Amino acid sequence: MSGLLEGRKALVTGASRGIGRAVAAQLAQEGADLALLATKADLLEAVAEELRGLGRKVITLPVDLANGPAVAEAVEKAKAELGGLDIVVNNAGITADQLLLRQKEEDWVRVLDVNLTGAFRVTKAACRHVMKSKHGRVITITSVVGLTGNAGQAAYAASKAGLVGFTKSLAQELASRGVTVNAIAPGFIDTDMTAALTPEQQAAITQKIPMGRMASPLDIAHAAVFLASDRAAYITGEVLRVDGGLAM
Ligand code: NAP
Repeated sequence: MSGLLEGRKALVTGASRGIGRAVAAQLAQEGADLALLATKADLLEAVAEELRGLGRKVITLPVDLANGPAVAEAVEKAKAELGGLDIVVNNAGITADQLLLRQKEEDWVRVLDVNLTGAFRVTKAACRHVMKSKHGRVITITSVVGLTGNAGQAAYAASKAGLVGFTKSLAQELASRGVTVNAIAPGFIDTDMTAALTPEQQAAITQKIPMGRMASPLDIAHAAVFLASDRAAYITGEVLRVDGGLAM
């Protein structure tokens, strides 16, 4: 049986763990070949090895998204080795949570540099390849806090709100080329990022979620597969909340 993304070529950032890993696995499951990016080569290679077991071509490109020239080089390598690029998933992200009065400027700059400028670097380098695809897709993982704000997360929320503006602007630039550009706004997902919260903090958050649970990375991966597929060909500039109703 052929998958929804048979023969497509996808690049996923932050693919070594959490949401990015689940997105990569679901894209592979649906028939896509993959270029996986993150900083830690060993974790990336372990994910790649697992996904090659599905019969897909999977390459790993260890790179820090803060390093512009290295990102451009990695994207070119992805395109050359996969033979094109149809789908880009901007997923990698970091936090440096702190009340604004205590936030160090270096932490603010690092969060914006990796989360927002990192997505710019990847997308700019990948764009001209994706524009040649008949099924071009740019999918960016933002967050509900980019829509609502969150005390203690000014830097992170600003980076995620920036990605919403980035998504809607690029959607307008690329619509006439048939490339859709969308964002997914997860609520609270069970990954390393949220494992840093205390059980009390996790319980307080869960209480605010109408569906009464955190999401699994798979919940986000299913949304990414949908947006990457032909079934979402007429959806662009959208921010799809996958949050159990948290930010409705
Ligand atoms: P995670 O488990 O902490 O994984 C983050 C991923 O990003 C890792 O693969 C990491 O790889 C990569 N990464 C971090 N810094 C990088 C850099 N400078 N260059 C390249 N790769 C880098 O995070 P997650 O929870 O899966 O989150 C994934 C995305 O969803 C993020 O954008 C996050 O903001 C967003 N999100 C998460 C939640 C949540 O509740 N978890 C909610 C809303 C939105 P290395 O460790 O190898 O660098």
